Amino acid sequence: MEAFPARHPPSDAKYWDAALETQPRAQWDALKLRLLQAHLHHAYHRAPYYRHSFDAAGVHPSQVQCLDDLRRLPFIDKQILRERQLAAEPFGDLVAVPEREIVYISASSGSTGVPTASPFTAQDFDDWIDYEARQFWSSGLRPEDRYCHSLNFSLFVGGPCVLGAQKLGALCIHAGTVPSERLLAIARQFQVTAIWTTPSYAWYLGETAVKDGIDLKRDLAIKRIFVAGEPGGSIPETRRRIEDLWGASVYDYYGLSDIFGACAGMCEEKDGLHWAEDHILVEVLDLDTGEPVPEGGRGELVLTTLKKTARPMIRFRTGDIVSFTSAPCACGRTSIRLSGVHGRLDDMLIIKGVNLFPSDIEAIARKDHDFSGEYKLIVTRENHLDHLTVEVERAARYAGAEEELAARFNRHLKSVTGITATVRILPPDTLPRATHKAKRVEDRRTGVWG
Ligand SMILES: [Zn+2]
Repeated sequence: MEAFPARHPPSDAKYWDAALETQPRAQWDALKLRLLQAHLHHAYHRAPYYRHSFDAAGVHPSQVQCLDDLRRLPFIDKQILRERQLAAEPFGDLVAVPEREIVYISASSGSTGVPTASPFTAQDFDDWIDYEARQFWSSGLRPEDRYCHSLNFSLFVGGPCVLGAQKLGALCIHAGTVPSERLLAIARQFQVTAIWTTPSYAWYLGETAVKDGIDLKRDLAIKRIFVAGEPGGSIPETRRRIEDLWGASVYDYYGLSDIFGACAGMCEEKDGLHWAEDHILVEVLDLDTGEPVPEGGRGELVLTTLKKTARPMIRFRTGDIVSFTSAPCACGRTSIRLSGVHGRLDDMLIIKGVNLFPSDIEAIARKDHDFSGEYKLIVTRENHLDHLTVEVERAARYAGAEEELAARFNRHLKSVTGITATVRILPPDTLPRATHKAKRVEDRRTGVWG
């Protein structure tokens, strides 16, 4: 017997928890229903807000007999979270445990209003970190890796995700958000093999390193880059360009400040993001009708926690526009996969009646190597008509006519979105580089209806 038995599977094991991860779909559904029923009872009996809102909707948890019955319950959203937090400060009356059982809170950045706190019990926290370890394992991270966590630690739910890599057995460097020169020095000194950041920062960091004379493939040892926080990681063209720049594999992760640091992530097949189905139930609803969209269709992501006891989240409207698939993955895992995060409802532009996401433009700008990949959208209204201008940088290598490049961009844009734009070609390195979340849209219309 080993003196200190490892608490993780052997490095050549494909799965963290094979029985769970490869179970047939019908077993997933049975598991989710069992967890949902217990969780709804907990929420109803312990959280004042849920008792009130379920009663007002005329639904008792015992009436939820199948997963579809969830739709009888009311939604919550960010606005309700804020209101209920103010109504019962400091954590709100969606909380379903006494404060002495809460061991950790994260808080949202507050970029769209009052920061909302997300509390965890000790068990919630352990469940979360165990899930992060499982997700990292599916992306190929192993105990032999040196993992550098370069996300913000200040109240941010992405911070503790590093403990998942640590639980998995990797050597972990809690770097946080440090200047890029410092981060590159850490990566070089310790020959870091994996790192987590945002897609735009991964791009910026790579470009900075190259400018500083660092050969990313020779001087550094980074083989895996985890990204989250922007749609870019799910846009194949963006991912491929980051991969080409770094000579590394890029894995997209999806997280939500009010639930988990990551709720989904790519396995080594990189064919969509496997969802944490034993923790969070997914609905994808049509923006106009509120009905579930057929598999593969775009709709708003609505989430229900299944285990998080400190603050259950029942039918939380995320504002994220996504699509899902339950088709088998080549990795053998059977959980549903997020096949695209197309953007946030807040980012969605309606131009001439067409729904347009910046991610649609990004895919065009990144696919064609005659463009640098940087772009900006400007929306104006002239004579009551919406007008889109796209500023896009040409690549340094492009020596042809700018008119030809602009016309090419417009052809792609029209075929993808049905919209045409005024396309301005800019010299390389003209647009500001984003250091974390990129701001690439300027809507100059006075109001949606103005
Ligand atoms: Zn897979």
